[in-house]
Amino acid sequence: MIPYGKQHIDDNDIEAVTSALRSDWLTQGPNVPKFEAALTDYCNSSHAVAVNSATSALHIACLALGVQTGDTVWTSPNSFVASANCAIYCGADVDFVDISLTTGNICISALRDKLSFAERHGKLPKVIIPVHFAGQSCDMQKLSELVKKYNVKVIEDASHAVGAKYNDIPVGSCQYSDVCVFSFHPVKIITTLEGGMALTNNAELANKMRLLRSHGITNNLLEMTSKVHGPWYYEQHQLGFNYRMNDIEAALGLSQLNKLDRLVQQRNKLADMYNRLFGKHKQILPLNIKEYSYSSYHLYVVRIKGLEQIQHAHIINALREQGIFAHLHYIPIYKQPYFSAKYPNIEPLPNTEKYYSEAVTLPIYPEMDESHIAYIVNTLIALVDRENNIVNVQDNIE
Ligand SMILES: *Cc1c(COP(=O)(O)O)cnc(C)c1O
Repeated sequence: MIPYGKQHIDDNDIEAVTSALRSDWLTQGPNVPKFEAALTDYCNSSHAVAVNSATSALHIACLALGVQTGDTVWTSPNSFVASANCAIYCGADVDFVDISLTTGNICISALRDKLSFAERHGKLPKVIIPVHFAGQSCDMQKLSELVKKYNVKVIEDASHAVGAKYNDIPVGSCQYSDVCVFSFHPVKIITTLEGGMALTNNAELANKMRLLRSHGITNNLLEMTSKVHGPWYYEQHQLGFNYRMNDIEAALGLSQLNKLDRLVQQRNKLADMYNRLFGKHKQILPLNIKEYSYSSYHLYVVRIKGLEQIQHAHIINALREQGIFAHLHYIPIYKQPYFSAKYPNIEPLPNTEKYYSEAVTLPIYPEMDESHIAYIVNTLIALVDRENNIVNVQDNIE
């Protein structure tokens, strides 16, 4: 079976992990700050806070920005549930902005309309979490100009987009956001097994997030609020969590970061091959990559037009039967039973619904080659043609 995504682990990674295992530090050693520094360097941001998942990073980013009960956070419905859950952990509510059909990212004009409506009804969000779907950055300059007028803070969920660029600037620079979050889960671009990172250019936010990732405890003598009892002394200042990344994971992250550019180049090569082979097929449309964007291609997604729901499922089943683990990213978050129970009156969003009825995720990972891509493209085209014939035959009978 060709999986839809797969980690890339080589001998250098194994060497990095074993040497960290043989060192004196397994948890809070030198590799975590080294990995943080390497990533701020790579992204051209000022601060990085390594944590045990992107989910944790999103949670502490929301808390650091003051999200709490009574607040609302907006995000994309076309994402993994973690993009929305982080707000609910803080006691806030979530609402969703419709997407653009051709990119799967938040639609700027839908956002403009929703903001002006929310302002008139006194329901502006405190934070918006744009998701860089499949590895393509949202139009961050436009998004940031728009939300700034309403004093809305921005957390980029860049779980898919480490190694991507927006206007030639690395995603993670935080030029147009308060915080940017990466995931290092094995299915993403680079991995630390489980792991995540929150980047920011704001020292105060970075400090808050550092405190929150480790129980709300500080060892910094300058921050103590009581007289120091002795050399063992530390203080807990707020309710934090154990969200730390460990030193073994950070060692792997450092080693993976060395080949990030190469991995993303390889993904782009594979995506170009797909795009070329689908050519001008009138029903199978690859996602549109905007001129401002260099995608990291975490996912390779096509939309298949003109199919019934049952045919859409047929195609994904048939691909799997032929050894191609096709998938669908994502089920709109508001359709999840947890969210539809919590928000029974939520309105389905038109582009999100249409996108969900057409999207198929095809395999992409660095070890694939031309023959895999050709096989997948030919198989999919044959399946779509077969589904069309079935429809035509039925039309003739009726
Ligand atoms: C994977 C993913 C997450 C969660 O990442 P973890 O590191 O597994 O917590 C959050 N948001 C998006 C968009 C993701 O794809």
